[in-house]
Amino acid sequence: MVWDEGADTETQMLRDIAHEFAQRTLRSAGQQADATGETPWAAVRAAGELGLSAANVPAAYGGPGISARTMAVVMEELGWGNFGVTATVGAASLVAAALLRAGTEQQRQRYLPQLCSTQAPWVAALALTEPESGSELEISLAGEQQRLATHATRTADGYLLRGAKRFITNGGMADLTLLLAKTEDGSGPQAWTLFLLEKDIPGFRAGRQIPTMGLRGSYTGELFLDDCAVPEQAVLGRPGSGFEIVLQVLQIARTMISSAAVGLARAAYEAAAAYSLERQQFGRPIREHEFVGGMLARMRVDIDAARLLVQRAALDLDAGRDASLQAAEAKLFAAETAVRVTQDALQIHGGYGFTRELPLEMWVRDALISRIFFGTSEMQMLEIAQGLARA
Ligand SMILES: Cc1cc2nc3c(=O)[nH]c(=O)nc-3n(C[C@H](O)[C@H](O)[C@H](O)COP(=O)(O)OP(=O)(O)OC[C@H]3O[C@@H](n4cnc5c(N)ncnc54)[C@H](O)[C@@H]3O)c2cc1C
Repeated sequence: MVWDEGADTETQMLRDIAHEFAQRTLRSAGQQADATGETPWAAVRAAGELGLSAANVPAAYGGPGISARTMAVVMEELGWGNFGVTATVGAASLVAAALLRAGTEQQRQRYLPQLCSTQAPWVAALALTEPESGSELEISLAGEQQRLATHATRTADGYLLRGAKRFITNGGMADLTLLLAKTEDGSGPQAWTLFLLEKDIPGFRAGRQIPTMGLRGSYTGELFLDDCAVPEQAVLGRPGSGFEIVLQVLQIARTMISSAAVGLARAAYEAAAAYSLERQQFGRPIREHEFVGGMLARMRVDIDAARLLVQRAALDLDAGRDASLQAAEAKLFAAETAVRVTQDALQIHGGYGFTRELPLEMWVRDALISRIFFGTSEMQMLEIAQGLARA
């Protein structure tokens, strides 16, 4: 039950590499991380060494430059292996996408080869969320009520950053962080500006790792900026263009994380489908009881439908079209599907599904974050409703 329709040779090859890696490495690394709470950095590095980190970087900067459609296929396989590690690996492609859209040639030359390196791949982070602002930073409303507290004050040769970021994937661990702050170039989102921050620059410090109920294969942390001085060259795009770039990157992020959520749902579905044939009750496999068979049918249809929505959004991204509505639809449906399917898969396993001896309960916990990060399901609905108003 993998997506094959029209896949070219490169996509099939990368899908096979990603699937094999997911089976051989991600499944066990993810489960171990879930038990210990320790991020499996070796598995994250191994993904990069296989060329699966920031694979959207084009050949001119050392990467394979794969399409969004192919990237989505890779993300589904990685998500099938472990959703958390996939989120941590995936951050590099988002920062790369932002650099490709808005970076200067100097910034691209400096960072893109590092992000897609197969020798020592850099870990990246996209830092938007703050203690007081979450949803309002991840929606295309562009209103004065969208607050951003982290601010950048102009100095003679650059900016001084002050503020805090919370719930950041790889936050404090990343070699490169793309961080949103407001400058004095306008009001509301018109003043938002993105900064490229390398690890260990003075005044940029990691806070604690935030313990989470799921997605424990991924590192979630806090960041603090205490009068962090950066040169003008740290700005991505022009001052005041942060909102526009973030909205474009969110289209990619939503599409890719939706694909990983499809992979997570598929993992749970496959386990349930296999178990439903093995497990006998009332003298026959439980799949032959119509409520169980019906549940499996519903799960399968939802996964296929979610994948098709992802592919539609990826096609739009590849064609350079605005994919905000398509990405929001994919994200809303894929996240809800991942939550429903993992719960149904647990249910089909009965009491065994509820134990910590099988990965079902971990998948249920992991799936829940898909409704929250990169804009909650409510934000996707708002985005879609706004899109309807524009149509
Ligand atoms: C594990 C993890 C990893 C994350 N990774 C990153 C990352 O890498 N980078 C990053 O920047 N952020 C990251 N986040 C943050 C995430 O994107 C935010 O948590 C999310 O956007 C929601 O923001 P919030 O938590 O502040 O909730 P709030 O915005 O406070 O929302 C609380 C509730 O109110 C609802 N709500 C808010 N406004 C409205 C409205 N207008 N209409 C209807 N409902 C509304 C929300 O849907 C939600 O249910 C991560 C979070 C977690 C938990």
